[in-house]
Amino acid sequence: MQYLYNMFQDLRISDQDVKLDQAKYRSFQNEAHAHTLAEKIDQLYIMNLAALELLNELGVSKSQIQRKIEEIDLRDGKKDGKVATANECSDCGRKVSKRRSNCFYCGAKINQLSF
Ligand SMILES: [Zn+2]
Repeated sequence: MQYLYNMFQDLRISDQDVKLDQAKYRSFQNEAHAHTLAEKIDQLYIMNLAALELLNELGVSKSQIQRKIEEIDLRDGKKDGKVATANECSDCGRKVSKRRSNCFYCGAKINQLSF
């Protein structure tokens, strides 16, 4: 009986080890993902700044740019600082950003936003 109990305890410990390893791996993946997002935000910030500075040099005022930002924000019917709310993939049914041309999960083609 003691032998079975010890074996059970060993199995529980190794199960905990596996769960800990999985949690560590997910944490590592999330950290890498956050790092990639931070890099993309930096790139977008630089591109935005370049576009804004060039527009200013070409005589476009800050209020004109602000009005355009608000107009684009309202294209999905909501003034929320977002391009569009998520829609459902016609193939797998998961929620996918309207900014994507393909489903993030199954790769199916998503209807493009019309500008
Ligand atoms: Zn899909």
